[in-house]
Amino acid sequence: MAISHSHDHGAANTPCSPQDTEAFLQEAEALVVRQGQRMTKIRRKVLRLLLDSDGPAKAYDLLANLDGEGAAKPPTIYRALDFLQDTGLVHKIESLNAYVACGHTSHSHSAVFLICDTCKGAEELHATATSASLKAETHAAGFHMTRAVVEVRGICRNCAA
Ligand SMILES: [Zn+2]
Ligand SMILES: [Zn+2]
Ligand SMILES: [Zn+2]
Repeated sequence: MAISHSHDHGAANTPCSPQDTEAFLQEAEALVVRQGQRMTKIRRKVLRLLLDSDGPAKAYDLLANLDGEGAAKPPTIYRALDFLQDTGLVHKIESLNAYVACGHTSHSHSAVFLICDTCKGAEELHATATSASLKAETHAAGFHMTRAVVEVRGICRNCAA
């Protein structure tokens, strides 16, 4: 099945990654393999739960929904989440202590989240200019950046309406 990648890169609410769970998982697996890694059962399951979640999910919510998959103990979940973050498939939003599936896996980026103080929703912004300047400025400071998540607080367009 061909997946269209055409999208408007200007809008905050237009993720580049497939919106369909199965399509996303397929792309995720290909990305993991390209990185010489393996998409294990637990990693896939955690990613699926994040994709199916309505908003940012906490680790213990994921744990509760694993249905006894593997040895579902907290360290297992955290290891899977760490792996998914390292591959760029998942981001952690520190201020919510929660995780979300990445909306922009097809291109390298720093994650910029618009977090609504009213509904607690978090939307990943397609922020290529911010990513580029963050990279340039951290590099100029002699700092080697491995990952960055920018958390912008405010009121989303639905709650403002
Ligand atoms: Zn992302
Ligand atoms: Zn994008
Ligand atoms: Zn809102």
